[in-house]
Amino acid sequence: MSNIPHEPEFEQAYKELASTLENSTLFQKNPEYRKALQVASIPERVVQFRVVWEDDKGELQVNRGYRVQFNSALGPYKGGLRFHPSVNLSILKFLGFEQIFKNALTGLNMGGGKGGADFDPKGKSDNEIRRFCVAFMTELCKHIGADTDVPAGDIGVSGREVGYMFGQYKKIRNQWEGVLTGKGGSWGGSLIRPEATGYGLVYYVQHMIKYASGGKESFAGKRVAISGSGNVAQYAALKVIELGGTVVSLSDSKGSLVLQGEGSFTPEEIALIAQLKVERKQLSSIANTDAFKNKFKYLEGERPWLHVGKVDVALPSATQNEVSGEEAKGLIAAGCKFIAEGSNMGCTQEAIDIFEAHREANKGGDAIWYAPGKAANAGGVAVSGLEMAQNSARLSWTAEEVDEKLKGIMESCFHNGLETAKEYVTPAEGVLPSLVAGSNIAGFKKVAAAMKEHGDWW
Ligand code: GLU
Repeated sequence: MSNIPHEPEFEQAYKELASTLENSTLFQKNPEYRKALQVASIPERVVQFRVVWEDDKGELQVNRGYRVQFNSALGPYKGGLRFHPSVNLSILKFLGFEQIFKNALTGLNMGGGKGGADFDPKGKSDNEIRRFCVAFMTELCKHIGADTDVPAGDIGVSGREVGYMFGQYKKIRNQWEGVLTGKGGSWGGSLIRPEATGYGLVYYVQHMIKYASGGKESFAGKRVAISGSGNVAQYAALKVIELGGTVVSLSDSKGSLVLQGEGSFTPEEIALIAQLKVERKQLSSIANTDAFKNKFKYLEGERPWLHVGKVDVALPSATQNEVSGEEAKGLIAAGCKFIAEGSNMGCTQEAIDIFEAHREANKGGDAIWYAPGKAANAGGVAVSGLEMAQNSARLSWTAEEVDEKLKGIMESCFHNGLETAKEYVTPAEGVLPSLVAGSNIAGFKKVAAAMKEHGDWW
């Protein structure tokens, strides 16, 4: 159909969801839901704007800014802002689309949205970052609000950027409100929000391990390959180590650090990497230091998957399409039994098809079990939802309270996907249910039902 724009990443995310709905009994039981999918696949609104700012040399710079307000059936639009040179409408539409169903799976009242800019924070000074954030929010502030649309961080946007944007929103709108999440602790941020995506990912995988092993196994003694080295990867790694697992890899866009021999990344090494990221530096800048060079191999231009040796768990936590079909086969050959996305759409469709075929062809414990980002990485936005709740009540919960709620949300997210899969795509005897189909169907059904009650489709 010629009137459909060419948006490869969005098409990939749409087809991934649509194919799991088609291959389940959902459309047989509820044929009218096809209409809902047709309506839900078009954003309610897309805002595009220019962002003009001044660099340290006093020269004019201009970038493209966006906010995709995809779906508000369950609550205000909610989802992060990505600052990365690759950002375009196709990428933000895929992210916004995923976010709708992810947010539904948290059980909290949040719609789905995503935004950002094709601005590259790498190599920019702190002052340039601040000036960009101020310029970006000068326009975005007209389109968001605590009850309308609540952005947060994503790649390239963390606490510092959220602070600058919050300050500019407050100046222009003259309102102190929970318009962004991932805020600083003393001005409305929630404890555990920085940790939430990585911790939540590991809590989710704990349930996968427990279920697949009939309650016999845990993270203790498991070798875990992680990609990425940002917020999600760092906190996933720390939680794996805390639970007795070993972390054998981390990476960035330029290369991977892979453990040689026994041992694991340690919390101290992860702290050094976290500091690098604050300085917007690459892993290559520490790869040759005494602390790293004897223990880790730095593989320039490589992702970790085919270099990690035997692993039990893989957690892609960098960016979209970071596991190819070939890498999926490599992970299966390396004995990997659990793969869960800390990133959004971390696996290509080829990789998902290979994991799902292996799951279907093997009995429980012998199969690889794949969990999609919209379920496995929902912990971040879940704690954003808890931050919104705390802001509305004008109070703060303790770290323990938030962590307990996060654990509960990840548990129900896992069981919701599992039970929905059993209901709509009944697996063969002894075969693990499809978490990708179950999570897609559970998230979609909830959104579609609310949209119908609102008269969005009929
Ligand atoms: N960017 C995160 C995600 O992909 C968090 C979004 C949020 O907290 O609103 O889910």
